Amino acid sequence: MKDDKGLLIVLSGPAGVGKGTVCNALRNEDTDIEYSVSATTRQPRAGETHGINYFFKTKQEFEEMIENNKLLEWAKYVDNYYGTPLDYVEETIDKGKDIILEIEVQGAKKVKERYPDGVFIFLMPPSLAELRNRIVGRGTENEDLINKRMNVAREEIDMMESYDYVVENDEVEKAVERIKSIVTAEHCKKDRL
Ligand code: 5GP
Repeated sequence: MKDDKGLLIVLSGPAGVGKGTVCNALRNEDTDIEYSVSATTRQPRAGETHGINYFFKTKQEFEEMIENNKLLEWAKYVDNYYGTPLDYVEETIDKGKDIILEIEVQGAKKVKERYPDGVFIFLMPPSLAELRNRIVGRGTENEDLINKRMNVAREEIDMMESYDYVVENDEVEKAVERIKSIVTAEHCKKDRL
């Protein structure tokens, strides 16, 4: 049986990995993927437009959105609120269109609880990718060394485990291509047909 709903795609990953850059590059490509515009209480940066980059809200407006269940998820990040408006996400996937959310890891965790069928992509910095490859690939690596490295990267690696895909952000264009391939593959999955 065909599931007519679109894919809910979450792009997340550690701070500073370049989620925004990759997502914007994907947005500039000719894909059928819709983009979820988040609400935030942070001030607009130069060049940012209300309704395109974010819906810029006051703290009070944001807290009202929380109270009225208008957000699919929200998180506090560096003294500001960030959240995903629920209606647009639901309307989009109900129409059979795919939507991508670019959000930090705490928010991604909340989306996973609510939408376990979502497609969760963890964007990884190349240095962590190298680390992981070494830890996983070389069974002979000295135990102490593995432990030390694992300690440094533990939080991020722990979070990565709950994702469906890990995409290395070595080059933006390559990361975008990988994400597009994931979306194509997800549409070909037999349990979605
Ligand atoms: P920035 O202020 O640099 O635009 O974003 C700061 C962080 O907030 C980034 O990691 C970004 O991915 C995340 N973010 C943006 N929108 C949302 C959202 O709706 N929910 C959550 N949880 N995080 C978001």
